[in-house]
Amino acid sequence: QKCIGVLALQGAFIEHVHHLERCVDKYGLQFYNGVTIKIITVRTKEELWQCDGLVIPGGESTAMSLIAQRTGFYDDLYKFVHNSQNSIWGTCAGLIFISEILSNEKDLVKTLQLLHVKVKRNAFGRQAQSFTQECDFSSFIDGCVDFPATFIRAPVIEEILDNDTVEILFRLNKPDSPQDGLIVAVKQNDNVLATSFHPELAEDDLRFHDYFIRHFILKI
Ligand code: GLN
Repeated sequence: QKCIGVLALQGAFIEHVHHLERCVDKYGLQFYNGVTIKIITVRTKEELWQCDGLVIPGGESTAMSLIAQRTGFYDDLYKFVHNSQNSIWGTCAGLIFISEILSNEKDLVKTLQLLHVKVKRNAFGRQAQSFTQECDFSSFIDGCVDFPATFIRAPVIEEILDNDTVEILFRLNKPDSPQDGLIVAVKQNDNVLATSFHPELAEDDLRFHDYFIRHFILKI
């Protein structure tokens, strides 16, 4: 059995829980090599240490980090994510929270310093400038040429700090826009995934969550 936790201190965690549960219902018995997968929300150390993987959702990275520090949870989270046996997926604020460096020094987010990248918060502007773009992820998800990726006050990865461990999975493809080529998805080794966008908001599209379960949790 494998257990996937979704960090539920703050933000869009319930959508991740639903997407993961739907993956298990849809693909579980046949396609996950017979492994039973349990999905839980994580708010306590006891819940955290049951998990083999942790999804850190979107929301507000400043708030998420502060809540983790004030509740005394930060140190356990730090230890958990730095154990390479565990698989971690950060989306949006979650990506910010696991990153090593933020490019704006005034961002007083105490991060978990796991992912060797430099990140710029709110790189696409305000909430009103949110957008959904169909992306071709077929270089890493079989046949996935049209995934609707939603960006909400999203960060971008400005710099990869360690090319040996971090691999770019996707750059935005927006010809003639200043946003063309921005790095919005990476992985580190075979256990850390990070996306600027929100795959859990792609209604009825389970392909990204299925990819996380297969490649990062089950390694199949
Ligand atoms: N802008 C937010 C932050 O800095 C992230 C937004 C999101 O998670 N949708 O934490």
